Amino acid sequence: MTDFKRDGSHLSFCPPVEKWDDWVEYDAEAWPRRVEKHYQLVPTICFNCESACGLLAYVDKGTGQVAKFEGNPKHPASRGRLCAKGPATITQIHDPDRILYPMKRTGPRGGGKWARTSWDEVLETFGQRMRKAFQENRGEEVMYHVGRPGHDFIMDRTLQAWGIDGHNSHTNVCSSSARLGYLLWHYADRPSPDHANARFILLLSAHLESGHYFNPHAQRIIDGKMAGAKLAVMDPRLSNTASMADYWMPSYPGTEAAVLLAMAMVILGENRFDATFVKNWTNWEELEVDGFRAQGQTFEALIEALKRHYAKFTPEFAEKESGVKAEIIVKTAREIATAGSRFASHLWRGSASGNLGGWQSARALMLLHVLTGSVGTPGGHNLNAWNKFVPRPYKNPPPQKNWNELLYPLEWPLCTHEMSPLLPHFLKEGRGRVDAYFTRVFNPVWTYPDGFSWIEMLRDEEKVGLHAALTPTWSETAWFADYVLPMGFSSERHDLMSQETHAGKWIGFRQPVLRVLQEREGKKFDYTYQANPGEVWEEDEFWINLSWAIDPDGSMGIRQWFESPYRPGRKLTVDEYYGWMFENSVPGLPEAAAKEGLKPLEYMRKYGAYEVTTDVYKLNEKPVAPADLAGSKVDANGLITKEGKAVGVMVDGQPVVGYNTPSRKLELFSKTMADWKWPEFALPEYYRSHIHKSAQAASLAKPGENVDPDFDSAFDRGHVPRVEWPKDAKGEVFTLLPIFRLPHLIHTRSGNSKFLYEIAHKNPLWVNPVDAKRLGNIRTGDLLKVHTEIGFFVLHAWVTEGLAPGVVACSHHMGRWRLNKEDHVERMSSAWVDLKEVGKGQWKMRQASGVEPYLTTDPDTQRVWWSDAGVHQNLTFPVHPDPITGMHCWHQMVRVERAAAGDRYGDIFVDTNLSFAVYQRWKALTRPAPGPGGLRRPLWIPRVVRPEESAFYISAKKA
Ligand code: SF4
Repeated sequence: MTDFKRDGSHLSFCPPVEKWDDWVEYDAEAWPRRVEKHYQLVPTICFNCESACGLLAYVDKGTGQVAKFEGNPKHPASRGRLCAKGPATITQIHDPDRILYPMKRTGPRGGGKWARTSWDEVLETFGQRMRKAFQENRGEEVMYHVGRPGHDFIMDRTLQAWGIDGHNSHTNVCSSSARLGYLLWHYADRPSPDHANARFILLLSAHLESGHYFNPHAQRIIDGKMAGAKLAVMDPRLSNTASMADYWMPSYPGTEAAVLLAMAMVILGENRFDATFVKNWTNWEELEVDGFRAQGQTFEALIEALKRHYAKFTPEFAEKESGVKAEIIVKTAREIATAGSRFASHLWRGSASGNLGGWQSARALMLLHVLTGSVGTPGGHNLNAWNKFVPRPYKNPPPQKNWNELLYPLEWPLCTHEMSPLLPHFLKEGRGRVDAYFTRVFNPVWTYPDGFSWIEMLRDEEKVGLHAALTPTWSETAWFADYVLPMGFSSERHDLMSQETHAGKWIGFRQPVLRVLQEREGKKFDYTYQANPGEVWEEDEFWINLSWAIDPDGSMGIRQWFESPYRPGRKLTVDEYYGWMFENSVPGLPEAAAKEGLKPLEYMRKYGAYEVTTDVYKLNEKPVAPADLAGSKVDANGLITKEGKAVGVMVDGQPVVGYNTPSRKLELFSKTMADWKWPEFALPEYYRSHIHKSAQAASLAKPGENVDPDFDSAFDRGHVPRVEWPKDAKGEVFTLLPIFRLPHLIHTRSGNSKFLYEIAHKNPLWVNPVDAKRLGNIRTGDLLKVHTEIGFFVLHAWVTEGLAPGVVACSHHMGRWRLNKEDHVERMSSAWVDLKEVGKGQWKMRQASGVEPYLTTDPDTQRVWWSDAGVHQNLTFPVHPDPITGMHCWHQMVRVERAAAGDRYGDIFVDTNLSFAVYQRWKALTRPAPGPGGLRRPLWIPRVVRPEESAFYISAKKA
């Protein structure tokens, strides 16, 4: 459908592949003389966000070092283009402060004293400790906790080879809310919009500048716009993305579902929906609402019931809730109806991640796709699983037998991912301990809410026995580890990745560039750290070797999974692991390689990426396989089952595979929600968030005083917790948006990139001029004190009209800090702070100095001209686990006042006793398992590193 050139030949600046072995450019530093420089170009994959764009490393043949990174034109998703973070990889690999060797602490935990150690010592220490835990049936005390994965499947396999339920992730502070909204509709928990072929694009995100897969998505949004698509952006903040839109809809945070349902009502009311699609492809016959049962009724009766149910969602009601003009709601709804099957959208974080009940934004957005029939279509909404390809290795271990309740506790049976932000509170409640803890490219002390509770947990050796931080950069969390283990950046490691970036399936191969080049020249390495700077390693080889250290003689049954598929009983190499998959698990790759006289591994090392297929639309219409059809049964709703398992559904008289939901259709009505104690949310709904204006009024009301009948009933129904302000909290009440991204920063990993931090290094509080006046004529640069439920932070104001009144905003990317002035830190991005625990759980942080120039082997560090490192707002946020999805609801109700005389920029105070109390108030809203049949969780809902089925039953005995 698209008219771009997939081979990247439209990019005139990209060197052609045939010249990659000897690419010549003039040396810029020699100007005006024309001095040639010769490079070898090696493809790899960017590791600076999850998009997995293709990089080309330019290795200077004179120095043998990587001189720069540009885009790989052979990569099907990024097509030779990068965002600022891709080329900035060069500053990360050459940062003089980077960690080059494995380090072991020598003083008390958190004391900042380190000594170099060896990889052998690390493997021996952890291998012995983990072996003991596994032999004593304490496997669930071993926990792997990942921030940025950057790979597919290999860790799932490793943990199942160890036989443990030990995978923890950051997803519950990221995207788990939107995921539930999507998976209830169609099992797949992510959208894959086909922006390039769309006629109307609605973003509840900032995908022209940031967000998941934003570089690949941004290209295709622009492709779509250039072909005539209109763009609408719903965001309270005038982001760079919103500034490019045809319609900016600055909705009040948390009210997006009301707007989306009002749009749905316009489409329904004007009978502009795709009736055939809705009738064929939703489970409408199962719907029960407001006393109406669809079973046995006509489709027309169903539509009337829906219109009655959603009648209150008029454009005027939505305007009152959201602030978005009714006429814009009607206009965009009509444009969406006109785009029909070519309506694309995206929602990932933003409204879903910020709000209690934010998952309903995804659910309501999907209703628009269902009504327009834009599911699985060119230019429409596709399923992530249809646009992602994960090859399988030569053999895989069976699922683990146990269920780890520190990860998936009974209170949140519908959470899509691990309840990781609550780990410190779970340990405080005595639910368990962690004996061996691996944090991997992950900095919870800084990226999570409630960081002081994390520090309290990490420094307690009773709660966390031994902690290794596997990380390419220093971090606030690494400071509290026992071992800091340096892992490679984009050009220093192997990983295999695939992402749902567009209508196609591809794989991208990250590789350690210097090792690959030297091996081409005949040099041999046992391990990647021998070719990398210092002894920087890669996780793949680390886990293989750790598995051998746990089970050196193979008697525990672990080692077998890490033995070569080609050399029985010998240790698996990364060449063998990936080479086998490329030979056997990637359709078409062996043939493509053979055409060039290459082995599949050589092909992937040469090109860095491979496009598996572009035939990805309407996969739900695939016929059921004859083998599945033989001996199957069909029920009254057309569901085809075989041996008790659904294998397809009858649509228009044809047996097709459908979706992986219980009904095999798109689930307009979720029986799962009804069965699991949330019948009021069986349909897509809107309900008010924890930061809604009426919740703000309620927070200031006296006991027993009613401020808003609707909202008080929300308290009564147990949907929303009440806010209790600390006694010192003063000032006007606002909603704080704390999660917008800056396009060039990467949480922790950009901290050692001088290119990226030079671009921006400040996170002031955005304040609308109306509010600035209300706060006492605040001007840009004035100091403000922002009170949360557990403390406060002090920062500068930025008065701007780019934000709706009543809302303040602060980017989450800034505010890095360090406890040590001189070493083991990232000095260009962090403030040196004085941190004191002034009472039990009462933490005070004050900046001793901001960023200053410093002396290293890189002369640029003496030229650092900025002094601001920003303010770490996340420390002052309590956990807000959504009672259904478990997602941390990031938006904060705050009180803002002008800072007092004694307050200084960057001051932070937090009481973790209050944060524990807030956790308890939110936990009280949950409706815990068991569900039907004594289950912990619905069997059909996916789970990361899924245990065997018996573990899903609460009564299952621990193996
Ligand atoms: S979007 Fe930017 S940071 Fe992310 S993978 Fe692509 S180039 Fe790297």
